[in-house]
Amino acid sequence: MSDPYSLLILPGDGIGPEVMAEVVKVIGWFGTHRGMSFDISQGLVGGASYDTHGTPLTDDTMALAQSVDAVLLGAVGGPKYDNLDFSVKPERGLLRLRKEMDLYANLRPAQCFDALADFSSLKREVVAGLDILIVRELTSGIYFGEPRGIHADGNNPGNEGGRVGINTQRYTSGEIRRVARSAFELARKRGNKVCSMEKANVMESGILWREEVQWVHDNEYPDVELSHMYADNGAMQLVRRPRQFDVIVTDNLFGDILSDAAAMLTGSLGMLPSASLGAPMANGRPKALYEPVHGSAPDIAGKALANPIACILSFAMALRYSFDQGDAAADLERAVETVLAQGARTADLMGPEGGTPISTAAMGDRILAA
Ligand code: ATP
Ligand code: MG
Repeated sequence: MSDPYSLLILPGDGIGPEVMAEVVKVIGWFGTHRGMSFDISQGLVGGASYDTHGTPLTDDTMALAQSVDAVLLGAVGGPKYDNLDFSVKPERGLLRLRKEMDLYANLRPAQCFDALADFSSLKREVVAGLDILIVRELTSGIYFGEPRGIHADGNNPGNEGGRVGINTQRYTSGEIRRVARSAFELARKRGNKVCSMEKANVMESGILWREEVQWVHDNEYPDVELSHMYADNGAMQLVRRPRQFDVIVTDNLFGDILSDAAAMLTGSLGMLPSASLGAPMANGRPKALYEPVHGSAPDIAGKALANPIACILSFAMALRYSFDQGDAAADLERAVETVLAQGARTADLMGPEGGTPISTAAMGDRILAA
């Protein structure tokens, strides 16, 4: 048997522990039936950590996260913690993980399961079979660039109100190259095609973005098909003919908008996984954190109503992108597809036709059976 894959599981708050319990069953299945070996640690994050340790993430848990092949996180936050001081809010635990692990590539797949194609905001024919991956640069760009601020607008009598708001889009070539590498690596494990989006027609940072992505392609990934698109056209193409894409790589701002738009191509929040990747570690695997897109959903916590699929698909991403187990990931995704086709639905997936929803645990069991 090969070396075990080391995993840190942080269930967190609200429905986090409920959906994570189903992932733990799935991990056990791959151990028993596929001979995979996992070295699993469990830890606290968010409100759960605050309740026990008075901080949303301890230094020990942070150190553990830095040392494992992949971190799997449920969700953090909840109304119980709304009045806490900003420095110990549950969300700070997640932000600290992302920052200290330097997770600069945020991955948001948009995958359409046939049984749910009618949940899409687009027509079934446009989204059936859709499987794309948006890679958003997460640690730089206009959300972080200096100078920034709201100032008095000096001697400008023509400016009614007299103020100016400033943000700076700033990218270094190194920041662009590293996220481009992530995108090309991911493409090699998928459809081998990358489309890079910017606005090189009107932005200097866009020109640099295009040149550097092309440089990484020509020097390191000439086998991957690369195209460039202006981000506004990209937005249009995403809702017009989304299946033309495999991997899309784009900056922080455009990625924020495009990944939310892409999410709505596939429907429910309970179905959407994500990953955040950083630099390769000594063993060649990237630093990685996998989590469902949804939050802690306090309104349904403790009621066995949560859909575990987003978290289960996040683990499928870990299989594919951290552990190089693409076949196992595809099997897991196919099991999800199968149970949906059989009509298994948690409450969030009930369409207008109605029916009887199944519980969180029942959905996990159905997926294992499939
Ligand atoms: P956050 O600020 O943490 O992102 P949010 O306010 O965006 O949280 P979520 O917790 O993501 O809200 O969920 C929004 C709503 O969507 C929930 O209140 C819940 O009703 C529904 N929802 C979210 N995730 C799931 C899930 N896995 N299964 C079923 N319903 C869900
Ligand atoms: Mg939210």
